[in-house]
Amino acid sequence: MSDSSAPFVPPHCPRSDCRFHGSILGWRWTRHGSFVRQASPHRVPRFRCGYCGHTFSAQTFSTTYWLRRPDVLVATAFRLLACSGYRQIAREARCAATTVQRHAARLGRHALLYLHQHRPQTAVAEPLVVDGFESFAHSQYHPLYLNLVVGAISHYCYAFTHTELRRKGRMSSAQKRRRAQLERAYGRPDPRGIEMGTATALRLAAPAPQPLTVRSDEHTDYPRALRRLRGHAIRHECTPSREARTAGNPLFPVNRLDLLLRHNSANHKRETIAFSKRHQSVVERAAWLILWQNRSKPFSERHGGGTPAMRLGLAERPIPIPELLRQRLFPDRVALPAEWVRYYHGQVVTRRLRNERRHRLKLAA
Ligand SMILES: [Zn+2]
Repeated sequence: MSDSSAPFVPPHCPRSDCRFHGSILGWRWTRHGSFVRQASPHRVPRFRCGYCGHTFSAQTFSTTYWLRRPDVLVATAFRLLACSGYRQIAREARCAATTVQRHAARLGRHALLYLHQHRPQTAVAEPLVVDGFESFAHSQYHPLYLNLVVGAISHYCYAFTHTELRRKGRMSSAQKRRRAQLERAYGRPDPRGIEMGTATALRLAAPAPQPLTVRSDEHTDYPRALRRLRGHAIRHECTPSREARTAGNPLFPVNRLDLLLRHNSANHKRETIAFSKRHQSVVERAAWLILWQNRSKPFSERHGGGTPAMRLGLAERPIPIPELLRQRLFPDRVALPAEWVRYYHGQVVTRRLRNERRHRLKLAA
């Protein structure tokens, strides 16, 4: 583990099938030697669970468990927020681009667990601003929305969901034929995708029925999405999207997150080859960026002003990136909501790809 000043104490049994995985009341463990590895820290203590008998090490509780190159994880975490593509990160870290791709996926899964474990536990006490961040993955025939829910005062991003869209806008007749051909071969995205995705995102942000003020643009899917939230007394405030996108615009909190996604993530830069090739990786990289903006990034990098989590009273200081990544989180201890379980297990499908890699749990991983 990275903090070597205090001896490591295992927080719980890492095996998800052990009764001391969730609760540690009455748990006993014993020391079980140590092992030596090439990466620092070189000597890692081992332990044995007094109940299930399985052995594990201090490294089992690190986000870099089972990594041959643990240094690449933090480097990737920084570089993904600095507009680098996988190959550019790999060149600097002297590893394969596929290694960086796997680390980016691990960062995304960790971010989903972190966001949910440390989510606000009380009723939402500020208006929520919703919007769809539009991008694409694989090719421009496969656009998508990230449905974002952001606090109007704190700028905390409470939730996001992914929606596949049908290509629209101006197209040549050849492009229209190509779209028709692809839709015959691979099917069409659900025309109610934005409605469903926005309703799911709002349900993630405010699971218990409560009074809510929701701000959005005049997209016709939003009133339908809000009608799906039974039990919430909702006041809907619309702002025309042609209004200037200044700090005075009621949608500024979500416009700002759109801008951060576009400004910091290479996969959303227009007119480059760094676009995501898979919808799943858009979700993973978005989760990591949102965790960073909620917990690490000061409101203004020039003037400070606290992170969104601090503005919401969830934290007393910005959490540096290495600290966000210090402790491994276990999915069986976090209990993600159903939509994010799909994201965690790599089940966001890219229609044109067969045999996509899924994340399968091994030993509670
Ligand atoms: Zn055990």
